[in-house]
Amino acid sequence: MVVILEKNATPEQIENITKHLEAYGFQIHKSTGAERTILGAIGVKPNFDTRNISILDGVDEVYRITTPYKLAGRNFHEADSIIKIKDVEIGGKHIAMMAGPCSVESEDQIFRLTKVVAQSGAKIVRGGAFKPRSSPYSFQGLGEEGLKLLRAAADEYKLLVITEVMQMDQIDLIYKYTDIFQLGARNMQNYSLLKELGRVDKPVMLKRGIAATIEEWLMSAEYILSGGNRGVILCERGIRTFESYTRNTFDLSAIPVVHKKSHLPVIADPSHATGLRDQVPPMARAAVAAGADGIMIEIHDDPENALSDGPQALLPETYLKLMNELKLIAAAIGRTI
Ligand code: PEP
Ligand code: MN
Repeated sequence: MVVILEKNATPEQIENITKHLEAYGFQIHKSTGAERTILGAIGVKPNFDTRNISILDGVDEVYRITTPYKLAGRNFHEADSIIKIKDVEIGGKHIAMMAGPCSVESEDQIFRLTKVVAQSGAKIVRGGAFKPRSSPYSFQGLGEEGLKLLRAAADEYKLLVITEVMQMDQIDLIYKYTDIFQLGARNMQNYSLLKELGRVDKPVMLKRGIAATIEEWLMSAEYILSGGNRGVILCERGIRTFESYTRNTFDLSAIPVVHKKSHLPVIADPSHATGLRDQVPPMARAAVAAGADGIMIEIHDDPENALSDGPQALLPETYLKLMNELKLIAAAIGRTI
């Protein structure tokens, strides 16, 4: 249930409404906007008579929301959420670029590629230190050593770090090195991990599950939000369909759907969505045009010898050219990169 308060509701009225809601057994999440305050009342009470709340002083409107997600929904937070991390904002007019290799492979490799990321004007470098691989025999990541190298490279070029957390017992370690936790597609429905990430005070980029509906994806975001972490960023990275030419099928329409249903920013990852280098630039361009709040791109300067995802990595020169194109598309729709 969402309780929209009158523009001039007093603090006493808000407190009184909150007390009533709590007495009925609801958990309250308050959202203070520029114009008015909204109370999100969480709790399934199928027979609750909303008039009990409508009659209270200071209440403008009360309505039930049928969507199972509440905190992630546009009803709860009308304006787009902007996630601030140091001097970077994700979700505003500016489109956040994230780029880097699939995996951190060595000191040289991550420093070379982070330099390219910085040159491009992007503010966030990516790189996996713990890798979820389909085969147990494939490269699994450098672990803490990889985190240290990624942090050092990012600091050298004054960038933020995003890196994947695969399991609960990695959270404290990764926390020391990262600015944003990436929760991978394979873990989108790992509810214990989602709950734990709900308790951390750093943003989480939640990738859409391999076969997840948009509603399931938003429900996973709800887990993190309901734990108290409001720094949730969504990431469309393609879903599994019957099409086999591409690695996944890039669900471009998820971008406007998410924007309609949710206030959370949505990043597009055309690298994992297509899995093939030649398709990354067109899909990145399309994602900016479709309104993505950020783009994540995998790059490598020796993709044939990359330890993971070489076929989808853009060469530095292709990536730098793409960045210029994306800037033009962003300008055409009133945004910046
Ligand atoms: C990655 O970003 O390298 C990755 C493994 O992504 P996903 O979870 O989308 O497969
Ligand atoms: Mn990858």
